[in-house]
Amino acid sequence: MVAPIVRFAPSPTGLLHVGNIRAALFNWLFAKRHGGAFILRLDDTDRMRSKPEYEAAIERDLQWLGLDWRRKEKQSDRLAHYDAARDRLVAAGRLYPCYETPEELEFRRKRLLAQGRPPVYDRAALKLSDADRTRLEGEGRRPHWRFRLAAEEVRWDDLVRGPQHIDEASQSDPVLVRADGTYLYSFTSVVDDIAFAITHVIRGEDHVTNSGVQIQMFQALGAPVPTFAHLPLMVDATGGGLSKRTGSLAVADLRERGVEALAICALLARLGTADPVEPVTSLDALVATVDFARVGRAAARFSEEELAQLNARTLHILPYEAVRARLADDLGEAFWLAVRGNLTTLADASGWADVVRGPIEPKIEDAGFLAEAASKLPPEPWDDTTWKAFTSTLDRKGRALFHPLRLALTARETGPEMARLLPLIGRAKVEARLRGLKA
Ligand code: GLU
Repeated sequence: MVAPIVRFAPSPTGLLHVGNIRAALFNWLFAKRHGGAFILRLDDTDRMRSKPEYEAAIERDLQWLGLDWRRKEKQSDRLAHYDAARDRLVAAGRLYPCYETPEELEFRRKRLLAQGRPPVYDRAALKLSDADRTRLEGEGRRPHWRFRLAAEEVRWDDLVRGPQHIDEASQSDPVLVRADGTYLYSFTSVVDDIAFAITHVIRGEDHVTNSGVQIQMFQALGAPVPTFAHLPLMVDATGGGLSKRTGSLAVADLRERGVEALAICALLARLGTADPVEPVTSLDALVATVDFARVGRAAARFSEEELAQLNARTLHILPYEAVRARLADDLGEAFWLAVRGNLTTLADASGWADVVRGPIEPKIEDAGFLAEAASKLPPEPWDDTTWKAFTSTLDRKGRALFHPLRLALTARETGPEMARLLPLIGRAKVEARLRGLKA
């Protein structure tokens, strides 16, 4: 395959959430897998709703997730390109001015519906003469511009959905330029996809209906049509849509709640595919398996519970080097390997650092037994074999042996393997805790 060029094109009108991250991730993984380029395009032509702080948040979230881009473009910087493409479509007779007000259009729509006919725009504006237009503009009307659809069935082979066809003969000619001169996304997106030589448009299923119109635009502008891959939408446990407004599923919020970037990516890469959801220690592990043929057609069911579980499973396999810089209490590799299997979030490691470092108030279940144990502690140096050697000198077995020791040494009912914790706590503190002293 020629190196693909793909883009992720969020509008900076809100925070990234799991729904749009899935599209970003598939674009990124696909580019990586095939040695291609991933472009970040900010669809910020809506000047009212686009905000610099959302732009910054999008970049921060993508960086945090590890989804780096080769090139960044902002649509607001590219208006001259849209003007030029608009002029070409006008010259080719594919873009025409319309003067109907929203009220007039609504009236016609209702009339058609009342007659039992599809509410398709009747192209009345195409019949206007130059004199009509001059008169309308003289009345103060500003035109909006519609793309004249070719009356044909548009076909494409979607990498996820298979062969698709949309009959454009039954659609209204879409407005591409508003009366205030601003452009609609469907148009600017095509102009940019052409300019950046995008080979694959990978996006959510909510854009399927745009694709037929956009394919006609690529053709009208004399450009090759990219390959499309429309990912099924994600739904929550009840089957409801994951709306952008679900703040709790914003990447920034998940990050604040201690969810690992790798857990988010591992879940979103596999959700709704034929492959099982598995924890990974790097994004590279996901690259090799990204394959649109393995993405199912049904909506992918997202569950926060599954994400939380995957988060824990991710931490349980992460090597020390992967977390070192983020540990609030870095007690070294042996500490990390001892506690990682007991973490739900990385922040939990601090609780175990407190246990190791002390002082803690030991919980004494059987003072006599613990005092005897204290007297049998071997001399240091200690290592992972010390626990076994030590406990085999004590005259108890099973829970009666281990439970009072764990309670005294950690003040907790459960936790990491004592064999790993013991040398980390060290002889002085172990002895003091067994004797019931705060240490
Ligand atoms: N700005 C569009 C969106 O966020 C981009 C869609 C596309 O990828 O073409 O939905």
